[in-house]
Order: sequence, then structure tokens, then C-alpha cells
Amino acid sequence: MTEPAALSSAAKQERLVDEEEEFLEAQPFDLLAVPVIGPLLRWRHSRTLLQIPLLAISIVMIFEGLLGPTLSPKNMATVLTWVHFRGALVVAILCAGNLFCLSCPFMLVRNFMRKWIHPRFAWPRRLRNKWIPIALFVAVLFSYELFGLWASPWLTAWVILGYFAAVLIVDGLFTHGTFCKYVCPIGQFNFVASTVSPLEVAVRDHEVCDGCATRDCIRGRREPSSPLVILQRGCELALFQPDKVGNMDCTFCLDCVHACPHDNVGILGRLPAGELMSDPHRSGIGRFSRRNDIAALALVFCFGALMNAFGMVSPVYTVENWLERTLHFQNQAGVLAILFTAVIVVEPVLLLGLAAWITRAWAGVKNSWLGVTVRYAYALSPLGFGMWLAHYGYHFFTGLYTIVPVTQNALAEIGWPILGQPQWTLVGLPKTVVEPIEFGFLLLGLAGSMLVAWRLAQDDSEKHPMRAFAPWGVLCVILFLCCAWLMTQPMDMRATMLAG
Ligand code: SF4
Ligand code: SF4
Repeated sequence: MTEPAALSSAAKQERLVDEEEEFLEAQPFDLLAVPVIGPLLRWRHSRTLLQIPLLAISIVMIFEGLLGPTLSPKNMATVLTWVHFRGALVVAILCAGNLFCLSCPFMLVRNFMRKWIHPRFAWPRRLRNKWIPIALFVAVLFSYELFGLWASPWLTAWVILGYFAAVLIVDGLFTHGTFCKYVCPIGQFNFVASTVSPLEVAVRDHEVCDGCATRDCIRGRREPSSPLVILQRGCELALFQPDKVGNMDCTFCLDCVHACPHDNVGILGRLPAGELMSDPHRSGIGRFSRRNDIAALALVFCFGALMNAFGMVSPVYTVENWLERTLHFQNQAGVLAILFTAVIVVEPVLLLGLAAWITRAWAGVKNSWLGVTVRYAYALSPLGFGMWLAHYGYHFFTGLYTIVPVTQNALAEIGWPILGQPQWTLVGLPKTVVEPIEFGFLLLGLAGSMLVAWRLAQDDSEKHPMRAFAPWGVLCVILFLCCAWLMTQPMDMRATMLAG
């Protein structure tokens, strides 16, 4: 795939650096320099401190899911997983960054296991891409609809248990951060979503790195007298700090922060989605324009958001019934397979294919059809994230207080009713408050996608940037209208007492 010819890559890189410098000069920010929060995060055991409560909650959820109430709105496993966890995750990514991976309870258990079990194998080279987690991500969305996971505490508990088992098996066999980088569907969701986050783990001063002899941020800090003894792990995701660009593949684990002997890694403020506006070489990743798998991940992220929301609005039942009657399907799996294929495969291929064709023909962009498609696929990430935010935010805010009665109920059930009797009437914020927030999220996503597409178009066609941009701008508006229409439809209030 060739680089766009209009601006040289050096000029583009220079422009991006200028923009970032301008942005940071205007708002210099390093989370690690903030009183209280900074020292806490720099503490060597900060991640463990964050992971322990999530592990404790996961264990409670597993027990509740297996042994607690069978009605999902009364069970902690379903309410916390499908109402609170998803909503809190996307809001945290919007406000800060990939905080779920930072606090990941699965990694706490994995690290504990690795004290005794040392993996011996390297992940096969052919699998060092995103195709497996893409398939798993689609499988999770598909299973969610097919098995009604939101309505089954028992199945939800098994999903959590299965996740722990998968982490232990994969990272028990394979070295480094294999599960996070090449398997975990939640991680991939977080990686794509956090490309629009305002914070990034990054080098403070590149000149310090230029003079750094040890490169501990990637190699790990070693015992001086015995180099085989690692005192602090380096980046397990193969991201070398001086060459790292953006949040893709970064779990915010802060290992590089603790390993750097020069205290040269911070959690820095940046232009949200700025990393999508250019195509530099990225450590551990390469160029986005050469990663068809990551572009496909960005598309599944965006169109999966549409499918996930479509699966819970009233019109989907009409479409499903029509498909059942027309194709004489006896089971729901076949109908869902057709819907998923239409929304996640056929729709993006047609829409992006057409947009890429117009860009090449009208703006004279020399790149191949696939090259243009891959390049602009990333521009849809902000809009996709806006849709996830609107959807998960809707459930999160309208079901915000449901955590109170399910906790009261769980305590009462084990004979310890210290919080009183469950107040099942507590639900969440009214729709009149939540709906404007949803549309705000969608508009933010639209603005982000348009901006990214515009910057890519400027780079691709100095003469006709508007021609290169127009098809992608129209595509963004079409997708935004689809999202807005979906959010105005009557929606299932899954896993809450308002569920139909
Ligand atoms: S981040 Fe720290 S350890 Fe890594 S190259 Fe720079 S100075 Fe060296
Ligand atoms: S060690 Fe790697 S994954 Fe962890 S915060 Fe640093 S760059 Fe991100």
C-alpha cells in the first residue's frame, strides 16, 4: 500500500508534532504529576490495589449468578455486568483512558499463577494479529442475543468463569501479554475505544530516551549483578515507549512507568482521536494503513455498535419475524446469523467500498481500493464509540441506582440485612435527562469522525481535499442518522425492573 503523495510523510509527521505541541502547550497535563492521584499511580502496587476490589466483585458476581435469584433484575451478576460494568467502562474511556484494563481482575489472577507457572511457548507468528479477537468479539455479541445473557444470571456467571479460565490457559502456555494482545475481545474493544481518549501513556521527553542505554521500559529493569533477574517487568504488549503512538494495544498497566529508570513516562493529555489523523509507524503495531486486521476491528467496533443496539429495539422483532416467515427458519440462530452478516459484513463492505471508489475516482487518490478503505475505516471509530457510549450510557444512567436494591437483597439473602430491605423502586435517572446525554455522545462521535476523515482527506489530496472527504462525510452522516434513529426507538430495559 502506498503512502499518500500530496504531503511527504516527514511533513505530515512534523505537522502532527506541531499540533500536539500546540495542544499540550495550551493544556499541559500529566496525570502522574497530579497530587495524590499521581503518587498513588506511581506506587509499584497501585495496579494490584485497583485489581483487588474488581476481583472481589467478580467472585461475588460468580456466586450470585450461580446461587442467587434467578430473576435477572434482582441478581448482582446480571445487573452489574450488563448495566453498570459496561456503562462505567465506556464513560471511563471517554473521560480518561483504558481504566478497565488497568484494573483488570483477570490479570491479577494470571500474575499470581505466573509466580509458579512459567509459560514456555511464543504465540504463533501467523496468529499475531486481531482476527481471533475479532471473531471472539462477534461471537460475544452473537451469544448475547442468542442466549439472552442479560436475562440469565447463571449464564452470566459462566461467562465470567470462562473468561478467567481462558486467561489462565492462554497465558499459562504463552509468554508475554498474549491474551491481552491477541485474544481478549474486551481488550480489543477498549483499545479501539481509547483511541479517542484524552489521556495516553507516553514519553515525557524524547531526548531523554535518545540517551537511554538500558531501554528498561521494554526490556524490564534487571538486577545489575544478575541480568537474568527481572526486578520490574517491561511492556508485555511489545510497545517501546519512544516509538509508541497512541493507545492501540496499551492496557495502561503502567509497567513502563515503573520500569523506566529516568522517570520519563507519564500519563499525558492529548488531542482525542488525534492518533487516527495520521499514519506513522507505531511500535508493536506498524502502520495502521498496513494493518487490514486492525481496520477490520475498527469496522466491527463501529457496525457492532449498530447491531448491538438494533438487537434491543422494537423493529428488530418485526424484521426477525419477517425473516422467519420468509425463509421458514425454525431456530433463532439462523435469523440472527443473517442479521449479523447483513449489518457487520455486507453493510460496511458496500458502504465503505462505494465511498472508497468515489474517493479514488473523484479526488484522484492513487491508493488501491482496499488501501483507501483500510485508511478511512479508522475514521469511523469515534462515531462507533459515540454509539457505544449512547447505548451503554443509556442503560447505565437509567439503571444507575439498581445497584442499591440488588446489594441489599444479596446481603439479606445471606442473613446479613445491614442495608435494610431491598428498595426495588430505585431505578435510575429519568429518560428526559438521559436522552439529551445520548444525543450529545452521538454528536461528539460524529464530530470526531468527520474531523478524522477531513484530516485524512487533506493528506490524500492537496488539490481536492473536499472531494476526497465528501464520500466519507456523507457516510458518517448516514451512520449518525441510523444511530439517532435507533436511539429514538422503544428499547428493552434489559436486566432492570423496567424490563418488558
Ligand atoms: S522510556 Fe525510559 S526506559 Fe524507555 S527508552 Fe525512554 S528513558 Fe529509556
Ligand atoms: S507497559 Fe505497555 S501496555 Fe503497559 S502502560 Fe506501558 S505501554 Fe501501555
